[in-house]
Amino acid sequence: MKKVSVIVPMYYEEEVAEECYKRLKKVLEGLSEKYLYEIIFINDGSKDKTLNILENIAQDNKNVKVISFSRNFGHQCAVTAGLKYITGDAIVIIDADLQDPPELIPEMLKLWEDGNEVIYGKRKSRKGESKFKLLTASMFYKTLNALSDVEIPKDTGDFRLVDRKVVEVINSLPEHNKFLRGLFSWVGFKQIPFEYERKERVAGKTKYPLSKMLKLAQDGIFSFSTKPLRIVGTMGIISILISIIILIYSILSYIFNWNDLASGWTSMMVTMTFLGGMILISLWMIGEYVGRIYDETKRRPEYIIEKTININKD
Ligand code: UDP
Ligand code: MG
Repeated sequence: MKKVSVIVPMYYEEEVAEECYKRLKKVLEGLSEKYLYEIIFINDGSKDKTLNILENIAQDNKNVKVISFSRNFGHQCAVTAGLKYITGDAIVIIDADLQDPPELIPEMLKLWEDGNEVIYGKRKSRKGESKFKLLTASMFYKTLNALSDVEIPKDTGDFRLVDRKVVEVINSLPEHNKFLRGLFSWVGFKQIPFEYERKERVAGKTKYPLSKMLKLAQDGIFSFSTKPLRIVGTMGIISILISIIILIYSILSYIFNWNDLASGWTSMMVTMTFLGGMILISLWMIGEYVGRIYDETKRRPEYIIEKTININKD
């Protein structure tokens, strides 16, 4: 029999953990004629009752595995950890808050049986999300696709079903700061969108404050594109051309007495501040890449696991 693995990252999700498990269990046991299942919950350093609840669930049900981080490493790291521990043939990544309904898994499995290898959830509508979130999300995907070398489908989050093969490729990538939805698109294989209505959060608040969204956006842009560097280069050349033009103009105006030289003060100031700004922007962008090189060369683990439940060490 084939096996389905479901990965659920959790950060302060005590209000939804139980409900999330129940809904997943119902769906997965409904498939028991054809599939075995496992659910891997990752407690991403929550200090509330999330871990207690998960421990109790895992005690009752040996198909439930729990990975608990020593602190909060972030959503992407939590999913990355889950991907390392799966034993199934088809792998589902889903949020704990039930915004992406688990009831869709059987339909996605059908698409998988038809030979598709990445079935990615595409949101038709997003209920209960603020205008601000919708606007920033749309800006983010536009910028990302304009800059990046790989096409990253719009309105696509991390909710998806992927084949074991694809997960093994992702697991073999040594890079850190993984932007998973980008990588899943980048790896190729047979991809197919799966349209669905994104629901409201069942309970609790979003665990993605602006700071975490910005970090995700940065990972998306800087790890999938070197275009920012090229843009800076182009801007640099243009600003040098402008300064040459200003230089020629001021020499000519000195020779032909077009202007009182003191009036050049304005253009000097404009040029100086403009160039200063350019240099700062360039430094910042180069810094982004240098920071990433630094991070990769450190070879620090992406996460530290405090304990695991129902997982045999190999
Ligand atoms: N999450 C996590 N670590 C974090 C932030 C979020 O594991 O640092 C989990 C969270 O518990 C949820 C999923 O990632 O299962 C998506 O988070 P959320 O629903 O808050 O994001 P939103 O849907 O608002 O973008
Ligand atoms: Mg959510």
